Order: sequence, then C-alpha cells, then structure tokens
Amino acid sequence: MTRSFTRIFRFAPSPNGPLHLGHAYSALLNGDLARASEGRLLIRMEDIDVTRCRPEYEASILDDLAWLGLDWEQPVRRQSEHFDAYADALERLRAMDLVYPSFLSRAEIRAATLDPAWPRDPDGAPVYPGLDRDLPATEARARIQSGAPYAWRLKMDAAIERAGPLAFTEQGSGPEGETGTVTATPALWGDVVIARKEIPTSYHLSVVVDDALQGVTDVVRGEDLFPATSVHRLLQQLLGLPMPTYRHHGLIRDEAGKKLSKSEGATGLAGLRASGATAEDVRRLVGLPPAQPTPST
Ligand code: GLU
Repeated sequence: MTRSFTRIFRFAPSPNGPLHLGHAYSALLNGDLARASEGRLLIRMEDIDVTRCRPEYEASILDDLAWLGLDWEQPVRRQSEHFDAYADALERLRAMDLVYPSFLSRAEIRAATLDPAWPRDPDGAPVYPGLDRDLPATEARARIQSGAPYAWRLKMDAAIERAGPLAFTEQGSGPEGETGTVTATPALWGDVVIARKEIPTSYHLSVVVDDALQGVTDVVRGEDLFPATSVHRLLQQLLGLPMPTYRHHGLIRDEAGKKLSKSEGATGLAGLRASGATAEDVRRLVGLPPAQPTPST
C-alpha cells in the first residue's frame, strides 16, 4: 500500500510594512511549488514584535497575496496569538539549563567587544560576550525581580554539545552555493536571543515551534535567512521537533543591486498595482513562468 505524503509549504511575512517584489517572489514560489506537488500552502503572520506589526499591514499583505493569485488555507496563524506555545518551548530549554537571562545593555556589549578581532555573527553584530552566562541563579533571579531589562539567551556551547553534529537538507542554494546536505554551523551566532523580557519568544524560537506545529515539510524563503537555518536546526534537535527541507532562494534586488526594503516605494506591490501592473506582470518581473492551472486530480 502506498502512503500519500502531502507537502506543506508556508509563506511567513512580518506585517511591519507593505510587501515588495521580493516578498511577491517568495510567496509566488511557495505557491507554485505547493501547486506543482499537489501540496498545501499556509500563510503565517510573524507578528511577535507587537510594537512594529500592525493589523492594517496584515490586511494589505493578504489583499496583495490574493491579488497575486495565491490560494492558501484558513485560518492564517498569527504568532501574537500563540505566545503560550513559545513560552512552553522556552521553559523546556530552561529545564535543560540551556538558556540564561542576559543583562548587558547595548553599550555594555559594545564596550566588551571593541577588539577588532572580536567575532561577529552572520548578521554582522558582535557575538554576545556572555559575561553574565554563569551568574549564580539567586543573583539572576534578584536582578529580574528588581525589574532590570534582560533577554533569554541560548548557552550556545552547551546546546551544541547536547545536540551533537547537525546538518540540514538544502534544495536551493545558500549564498555561497551550498546545496544538498549542509553542515549546520550554529556556533557562528554565539549566545543568540531566544526570548525577551516583554515578548516570551524570538524569531528563531517561534519559527521552529510553528513550522513543527503546522507540519511544515518545506521551508522556502530568501537566502538572507540561510545562516539562521543553523540555529533553527539546533533548536529543532533540542526540542525534539521534526526537520523540514529547506530551499533558500536568491533575493530580488533593486537596480543598484541592493536588497529591497519595506520602505522603498518603487518596488512596492501597491505602487505596481496602482500603476496598472497585473499579477502576470509581477511574475515576469521576478522571473517566474506564467501561472499554471491547478493540476487536475
Ligand atoms: N518572517 C520572516 C521575514 O519576513 C520570514 C521567516 C521565515 O520564512 O522563516 O523575513
């Protein structure tokens, strides 16, 4: 007996601004791959940053996605409605003694990492110096109780030791052409932030929890997130979550070769729509073939 395996894709925008051509490419590629494999397409709103995400952006994103011809399942998962699930995962990491409250301010981090040879993470930020990694628990608790600002960080060395060597499957290619079985290199990130004082999660934690909860089999996203995949793989291993397959795609760039940002008008979908472009025009602009009809079953 053959068991049918349904692939599940997701497009996961952060509703902190309107969509541009780069998002359109990612969303359409997810839609095309889901359709070609007779799989499912989910949309997830990554709105944990409640100060920057707004309902009106969410509404305009969904409107743009429908205009592009995408067809996704309801309901749309909104991360801001699932803080409990992320808090549970954080608690599990705490129980494994793999996270610690870190108290250094930005200025203190800067001061401790002035040495030009200090390692930088793949985003270019200095690796956290970890001066408070081994604070006695009573002192950490007292500081938290006194109202000090803090963030929960992963004890990266201990986490790697517990997880052992890890790899993930890359079906696209990373920024340096990595494809196939790729060795995860989470150590490059140092003690990453796993949750904040006000928000009991981070991008890394919520993305792995949600991909697992939603049964995502295929993560298709921009290659700017390729280095973060190593952290995701590590968290999946620690939390006993399944590993999706990854496909990182090239980024759509502006004429100067710069990555598009949400504030740029010219490549915004709203502007293109207002100037009379069609969804097929957008597909052409981002280099995708014309839309295919849904395969008949
Ligand atoms: N929310 C992320 C973004 O808008 C994408 C996360 C992901 O696809 O894993 O850049």
